[in-house]
Amino acid sequence: MTKFGTVFTEGGKKALICGSGELGKEVAIELQRYGIQVIAVDKYENAPAMQVAHKSYVLSMLDSEKLREIIYAEKPDYIIPEVEAIATSTLVELEKEGFNVIPTANATFLTMNREGIRRLAAEELGLPTSKYRFAANYEEYVAAVREVGIPCVVKPIMSSSGHGQSVVKTEADIDNSWNISQEGGRAGAGKVIVEGFVDFDYEITLLTVRHKNGTSFLAPVGHWQKDGDYQESWQPQPMSSVALEKAQEIAKKITDALGGWGIFGVEMFIKGDNVIFSEVSPRPHDTGMVTMISQDLSEFALHVRAILGLPIPNIAFHGPSASKAVVVSGDSSNVSFSNLDTVLAIPDTQMRIFGKPEVHGHRRMAVLLARGESVEEAKEKVRQMYEALVIEK
Ligand code: AMP
Repeated sequence: MTKFGTVFTEGGKKALICGSGELGKEVAIELQRYGIQVIAVDKYENAPAMQVAHKSYVLSMLDSEKLREIIYAEKPDYIIPEVEAIATSTLVELEKEGFNVIPTANATFLTMNREGIRRLAAEELGLPTSKYRFAANYEEYVAAVREVGIPCVVKPIMSSSGHGQSVVKTEADIDNSWNISQEGGRAGAGKVIVEGFVDFDYEITLLTVRHKNGTSFLAPVGHWQKDGDYQESWQPQPMSSVALEKAQEIAKKITDALGGWGIFGVEMFIKGDNVIFSEVSPRPHDTGMVTMISQDLSEFALHVRAILGLPIPNIAFHGPSASKAVVVSGDSSNVSFSNLDTVLAIPDTQMRIFGKPEVHGHRRMAVLLARGESVEEAKEKVRQMYEALVIEK
């Protein structure tokens, strides 16, 4: 039987969230609804989740020793990774030492690196993926481009959100894409994956939750990306029943292989009735922020229910919905949002301002959410909200 004692006492439960961005913030709020003590960790002060946590630590989560030190000092009941850039081999050790890593340490280890998850999906599970080759240096890279063929997509294996990613459209792009990949990876220069360019009709995130009573699928989330970052997402993405069935089958296989309890964002490309696996996050997904308005239990609420071993008997869907990311560009530690009277005057709309302290370059600072009679109407609403939003910096 699940039992939660009083917060700050021996009987209370503790969760340590690694990564304190907007997704971690929502997870922190959902944990607090059950009286769980929340400790937020990230590499800078006043990160969004820290602002709603009981306690926080500032450290590089890639620093194994510091991470280990804090985990031993706090002894959390749940270690909840919310970003990819974590010393995941340390999480693997900590799990062996008895800590509970969500969903499993191996899932965080494999998905931190594009090579781990691609080899598991394509080579072990036999899931359909784009053609791919890995390359550790320039010579191998050129050979990989030759084998995969042009057009192809080049990505550092340690990267996310489009950093270091580019498309080789013609011979003339080959050198440039290599240079981009060596400058944009999380760990600096290093190994890349060269993927065949998939000419998809649309792409989806199939949010899949593994919980004590089995696996549940959310309605598919459609999205469009620019420069590797999501701009708009909507739910449900219309799909043929054949494609939806294939997508659920793929999501079930990959999430079963990763194991544990929690939500997963399974990204796939769809062409007609064909479904191609792209990647998976063993945690809530940015495109899934739309569920904060489309569902009774958002992806964050479902993640927490699953983690805590609570039942998920149903997932109530409120209707067609859309989200639009508010990305601010420039250099500022004084960003403001105004004209919200007009933004939120549209019925069935909400917004979240993440409370990020500053912007240098491009940064997602808020999200606009709307529900409508149709996905088209919901998308139109978030666009109108965006038009009305005044951003000063
Ligand atoms: P990723 O960081 O791998 O999720 O890639 C970000 C975005 O780039 C995806 O959501 C797609 O829109 C696009 N993309 C990535 N890989 C491919 C591919 N092999 N073919 C076509 N588009 C891709």
